[in-house]
Amino acid sequence: MEIYDEAELWSRDHIEQTQLIRLKSTIKQARKSPFYRARLDEAGIGPDTITSLDDIRKIPFTTKQDLRDQYPMGLVTVPKSEIVRMHCSSGTTGSPVAICHTANDLNWWSDLMARCMYMVGVRKDDVFQNMSGYGLFTGGLGIHYGAERLGCLTIPAGAGNTKRQIKLATDFHTTVAHILPSYALILGERLREMGFNPEEFPLRIALVGAEPYTEEFRKRLEKLFNMKVYNSYGLSEMNGPGVGFECLEQAGLHIWEDAYYPEIVDPETGEPVPDGVIGELVMTSLCRQGMPILRYRTKDLTRFLPGECSCTRKHRRMDRILGRADDMFIVKGVNIYPMQIEQVIMTFDEVGKNYLIQLENDGFGDVMRVKVEIREEYFVEDMRSLHKIQQKIARALKDEILVTPQVELVESNSIPLSEGKAVRVQDLRIKK
Ligand code: AMP
Ligand code: ZN
Repeated sequence: MEIYDEAELWSRDHIEQTQLIRLKSTIKQARKSPFYRARLDEAGIGPDTITSLDDIRKIPFTTKQDLRDQYPMGLVTVPKSEIVRMHCSSGTTGSPVAICHTANDLNWWSDLMARCMYMVGVRKDDVFQNMSGYGLFTGGLGIHYGAERLGCLTIPAGAGNTKRQIKLATDFHTTVAHILPSYALILGERLREMGFNPEEFPLRIALVGAEPYTEEFRKRLEKLFNMKVYNSYGLSEMNGPGVGFECLEQAGLHIWEDAYYPEIVDPETGEPVPDGVIGELVMTSLCRQGMPILRYRTKDLTRFLPGECSCTRKHRRMDRILGRADDMFIVKGVNIYPMQIEQVIMTFDEVGKNYLIQLENDGFGDVMRVKVEIREEYFVEDMRSLHKIQQKIARALKDEILVTPQVELVESNSIPLSEGKAVRVQDLRIKK
């Protein structure tokens, strides 16, 4: 197996010994911020409290609200002159969360990202096109620097402007791209509209992440472009992309445990759940100097996959993100995640590139409407066949979520696109 970094081959023992050493120094570093000093003192955590990795549970969680309260630089633990870059997390509500990096932090991050890309077969002679937004969003510069570190010809195309994306990819013969899932299908559809066959597009690999998507979605994308799709997970609070990444096996995402300490906890109790059980991912940075973060509640729901990966890397794997704890909505008393809907609708060939879940209250109770874009070639069919498609989808959804939704078939391009990350649910119910 070709590797980018020898840490990929570390044994469990070696990983865990390193984690403990790095955890201790991270705590020491974190204490340099008044926030963590007070938090740790309050919890009675001194320099000698942590003697094993399990002791991490003695440390209180850090929440998004904590990070907001410390905006802009309350958690920085080095002199301001040592900070060379800041990014923000992409929340659309509330005040922002800023993460500050030293030059060394950026160096680590670029290496982790390069490691991810190398793992799935990206090499120096690839042409890499980054189709994600730049600016404060970490999917821009974060991935960009990883690609440059590998020596790829790196095209900072940015988000949107599909015509230009297609021109760049064709002219420079782009072999690898980073794409948000919600944008990838749009790109495919535009190609078709412009008379190209997406299968003949030069892409051989796509790194797809930043938003949840299902296995069914991946399969569709791989087929559409005749390329391999690898899931890329990260969050600004832990730098950004480069935290977890699928290997060639496509069987869960390896979390780079030399740089992060992951836990999965019961979202209600905060207690760890056994491997294989779904819970909330909690992350601790182990290598960041400028702004270490301890036990961050990501709100992302996943599970550790039991057993070893056949690629032989010992870094633990997590399942693809199943949703966010705050994505769940309740209709007629049933808890539903948007990904359950996607999983069903993406199996239908007739379904196009976009969908939207709308929740309303009709005076008698909750109404859940699933608007589904139908591919051009199916939309011209007669009413009867459209009605059949609609019923098929509604039945399949009922089987999955136990609630019968109103399925509305809509024309291609009629669901407005959101800027940045896709918004899958609109809750229009009047709050009592
Ligand atoms: P940001 O605030 O821009 O750093 O976004 C981080 C969030 O994006 C994570 O906490 C996840 O909710 C989501 N995310 C990132 N990568 C993935 C992925 N591969 N699958 C699902 N969700 C993801
Ligand atoms: Zn693997």
